[in-house]
Amino acid sequence: MVSPAGAERTALIDTAAIRHNVRTIAEFVRPAKMMVAVKADGYGHGALTVARAALDAGADWLGTAHVTEALALREAGIEAPVLAWLHTRGTDFAQAIEHHIDLGVSGWELEEVAAAAASLQTPARIHLKIDTGLGRNGSTMAAWPDLLQRVRQHQEQGLISVEGIFTHLAVADEPDRRETDEQLSAYRQALEIAAEHGIVADLRHVANTPAALSRPDAHFDMVRVGVGVYGQSPFADRSAESLGLKPAMELRTTVSNVKVVPAGQGISYGLTHRVDRPSALALIPLGYADGIPRSAVHAPVSINGTLYRSAGRVAMDQFVVDLGPADTDVQVGDEVTIFGGASGISAAEWGTASGTINYEIITRIGARVPREVTDTSAAAA
Ligand SMILES: *Cc1c(COP(=O)(O)O)cnc(C)c1O
Repeated sequence: MVSPAGAERTALIDTAAIRHNVRTIAEFVRPAKMMVAVKADGYGHGALTVARAALDAGADWLGTAHVTEALALREAGIEAPVLAWLHTRGTDFAQAIEHHIDLGVSGWELEEVAAAAASLQTPARIHLKIDTGLGRNGSTMAAWPDLLQRVRQHQEQGLISVEGIFTHLAVADEPDRRETDEQLSAYRQALEIAAEHGIVADLRHVANTPAALSRPDAHFDMVRVGVGVYGQSPFADRSAESLGLKPAMELRTTVSNVKVVPAGQGISYGLTHRVDRPSALALIPLGYADGIPRSAVHAPVSINGTLYRSAGRVAMDQFVVDLGPADTDVQVGDEVTIFGGASGISAAEWGTASGTINYEIITRIGARVPREVTDTSAAAA
């Protein structure tokens, strides 16, 4: 894919890859339904772009962290079921109820959601969240019976309708760890206790992408998948390709300077790297303001289809690539791919080079990088 003339920096988002990934994951999880997580602007890909492509490919639900993210989907005309699960005292539950947004409830939110429902005279649709071991959001097992009792009362008053009961896994990306078994058995126990309180939800959901792909016993009625839909592997030891997933983002730019420097030349702030022979250097106009981690060391970059490595520190706006011996063919304006597309470079490799994971690499691509939406299936037709 070639960026349009003049595009200085582009995150090319391929909707065909998103649709392909939704269908690929659906094959793993059927007959369970699929919620696609489009929080954080669709992991940096553009929430609306991803939402539309995912629904087009058969996704049943959309998931966001914040109500504001869910409301933005509604404002854009998306009518599919949406769940938002991370709230603060400032969250506008009334707006959520009015716009048919389902709400994750871990504890304190219940009374506020019920009050909003009462003022609107419309029942709120909630999904109760139980903490089965992650130690983040969700009701503790100890607080669960009391929460259920309160839910029961609000239900009887017609203020609350329990649509789902869910939990989130801590180590599903390491499929052999026993803590996932422990979380699943705690979850089943929480379902039983709920049933004893007369609360049975149609949508039991637990699995994130790694569990969707590796733990059929975690599928229940629905899976909540994010990273896999973006064509990224959730596993440290498995490539996206080996899972049948296609990266949906290609980060591109062009070479903004080329020059030859003598042996001993230091490169970028801190002079953490010096070339040990006369070398050609290419300047890449992307930096940490664009989401390229400052911590990246010896990170891969494709220029005209050839693999090179970064040299020295990533700065705010730019970093340097060592092209090797001084007689280079690389010129100002040549095509650069940081990851994705035909480069063969994965966001996961950038994660490894930066002490982080592919999730963070794709999600943090900055606002200074325009997203350009493409559909490679249409281009090929
Ligand atoms: C982000 C998120 C997911 C999706 O996780 P992936 O690992 O990207 O599939 C699922 N559930 C919850 C609660 C989340 O916050």
